[in-house]
Amino acid sequence: MKSHRPPAARIEIPRRQFLQFLGVGAAVSLSGLQAACTLLQPVDDGNPLARKVSREWEKIYHDQYRYDSSFDWVCSPNDTHACRIRAYVRNGIVVRSGATYDYQKYADLYGNHASINWNPRQCAKGYTFHRVLYGPYRLRHPIVRKGWKAWAEAGFPELTAENKDKFLFTHRGEDKFLFTHRGDDEFIQI
Ligand code: SF4
Repeated sequence: MKSHRPPAARIEIPRRQFLQFLGVGAAVSLSGLQAACTLLQPVDDGNPLARKVSREWEKIYHDQYRYDSSFDWVCSPNDTHACRIRAYVRNGIVVRSGATYDYQKYADLYGNHASINWNPRQCAKGYTFHRVLYGPYRLRHPIVRKGWKAWAEAGFPELTAENKDKFLFTHRGEDKFLFTHRGDDEFIQI
């Protein structure tokens, strides 16, 4: 689109006046720079290493990781790694998890040792698993799948295709759960 704005007025400045103008600007800039540089002058207030430095801020970090006791447990949330994890307890609550760094020290039933290179072994899920224990969806009661209970009461018969159907092994997620125990061996459907 064509512009209808009038052309900008041209200001005529004589060359001599223009150079004077530049000279004044440079002088002003230089004096401002000098004033700013005086603020950067070193202040001689003695040897800073000889002064007492406040280290109060470190207490925050020390407190954050403080714990009352610890115990080791094996993480096995439906995977096969079974990592050993150290839980740190404060005020009766597991507040964080850490590595045990001792995989090379113990063996399986056959005497097989892992090498020291297995340390640390946990994944992020294992390191945060204690949060599940305190979460709103934590498991609060021992429960058992209704079909599994029927299978156990039938004497654990061979899981043929027919029995898998009968005891709902082929319908995982659709079966009901039962409390396994409430006081006087009463099973209650939930
Ligand atoms: S820490 Fe991770 S890899 Fe190890 S058992 Fe737990 S979930 Fe599995």
